[in-house]
Parts: sequence; C-alpha cells; structure tokens
Amino acid sequence: MTQIDGLPPLRDVITRHGIAAKKSLGQNFLLDLNLTAKIARLAGDLTGADVLEIGPGPGGLTRGLLAEGARRVLAVEKDARCIAALEEIAAVYPGKLDIVNADALEIDVSARLTAPIKVAANLPYNVGTELLVRWLTPPAWPPFWDSLTLMFQREVAQRIVATPGSKAYGRLAILSQWRTDPAIVLDLPPEAFTPAPKVSSAVVHLRALPAPRFPADPAVLNKVVATAFNQRRKMLRSALKPLGPDAEDRLKMAAIVPTARAEEISLEGFCALARAYQAS
Ligand code: SAM
Repeated sequence: MTQIDGLPPLRDVITRHGIAAKKSLGQNFLLDLNLTAKIARLAGDLTGADVLEIGPGPGGLTRGLLAEGARRVLAVEKDARCIAALEEIAAVYPGKLDIVNADALEIDVSARLTAPIKVAANLPYNVGTELLVRWLTPPAWPPFWDSLTLMFQREVAQRIVATPGSKAYGRLAILSQWRTDPAIVLDLPPEAFTPAPKVSSAVVHLRALPAPRFPADPAVLNKVVATAFNQRRKMLRSALKPLGPDAEDRLKMAAIVPTARAEEISLEGFCALARAYQAS
C-alpha cells in the first residue's frame, strides 16, 4: 500500500536498502501499512503528542505513526542499514521525524521529547521486556511518558496482564499493574510478520496511572518480587531468604502467611511486603 504517504511499499524499501532480516537483531518486520496504521491508532490520539519509537526497522510502524498525525516521532534504531530508509520517510514529513542510530538500552532520549509523550515499539522480546521494566520503575511517578503501546510475544503479553493464581503471574504483572492499567489490545498471528516468527504476538497498551495503586519504593518492590518469584514453588518464608534471615517477621508485618507462595499474593500484598522490607 502506498496511498498513506506516497512512499514505496516496504518490500521495495527493504530490497533497495539491503535490509535482509537479521535474527541477531530480532528482525521480524511488519510490511502491511494498514496493520501498522491500526497499531498506531491503538496508541491513542497522536495529533498533539511526541512519540518515542524504539526499533523502527524499515519504518512500517513509523509511517503508521506519522500518517496518524503524530506531532513528532523520535525513532531509535540500532541497525545502521535502516537509517537511509528512515531518512526517506523523514523527507516526506519535514521536521516530524528524528532518527537516532543507537542501542536503545544504552541511551536515554527522554530529554529530547516534549510532553505529552507516547511510546510505541515492535521490539525483540528481550529488549522490549528490559525497556518495559525500566519504563515502569523510575524512582518518581508519573514517568516521562503517558502511554506505552508495545508488541510482545503473546506469552509475554499474558504475563503483563496476568492475575494472582495463574501460571503467568509474576514480576511483569506486578510492576505493570502497580503503576499502569495494562491491556492486550491486539493479537497477531506469526504470518503478520516477515519473516514469520515461531510464536504469536500481541500488542499491549499501558496507560500511566496518575499515582501507583499502593505505596512502595520501586527498587525495593522490584527486588522483593524478583526474589519471591525466583523460586515460585517455595513457600515465601524460604523463597525470601536471600533478602535476609528475618523473612517470617517481614511477612507477618505485611499480614502475609509465611507459608504462602508468591503466586497467591496480590499486588497490594507485595506492596505491603516491600514496605515491610523498607522499614528494616
Ligand atoms: N518496527 C519495525 C516493524 O514493525 O517492522 C521493526 C520491528 S523488528 C521486530 C525490531 C527492530 O528493533 C529491528 O529493526 C531491530 O534492528 C531493532 N532493534 C533491536 N534491538 C534494538 C536495540 N537494542 N535498540 C534499538 N533498536 C533495536
């Protein structure tokens, strides 16, 4: 499809710029511009917003974001082969697309954006999860962004929205649900991507809440939850031993039965536990 911006189809762009997909960079591209425009719409009204896009690749989602009226897109791409293709998009949207050739895990570009800021990305899942945890755990809240619209492997998306008692419930669910209201907004089969990955994907939308649901220090909560779920089948009084010898006392302070297991504890319970550890 060329009509959204007059630019050539993504297949041609990829061939002309020699962007053969690299497994090492997790490159599974979205080539259907109707689909990328749909994902851009899931990010909400972009007209008055700056968008931080991580991993634009040949620019399918970038074109969707710009076609949906983003005030400005700041695109951070690690693969230098994609930059010339992205510059062609920038030429069609003067002053609206800034391109940074860098590893998103190594640089912080938030200071280059003006509020309101939305984040959109289709990233390799390990980079996506690492960035998600960073975006969810800044020392102060609200964060620099209003919303995150992120593609994940479906199994990772399910971990983000999981509830207590389920197998998928763990650190990602707690950190996400503590400060945002995450929802799976689109499911995508492997064939939506080129090349097709082995598993299905899903887009998750996370809107930053004005304040966390329960008080807790983000670093302490992150550490307590990671430790609790590291040995998820153990009773918490044993699983929490790496944090110190007084796990039972801390659990009692948080009104949690010491023989309970991590997956039975609600978000509110984990926040109480983080406060109990912080008090020590
Ligand atoms: N957004 C494009 C799309 O939807 O077709 C590309 C998606 S592809 C799954 C992931 C993209 O992230 C690739 O272009 C890859 O080069 C880029 N990438 C991988 N690791 C990255 C990192 N650490 N920092 C920035 N970009 C990265």
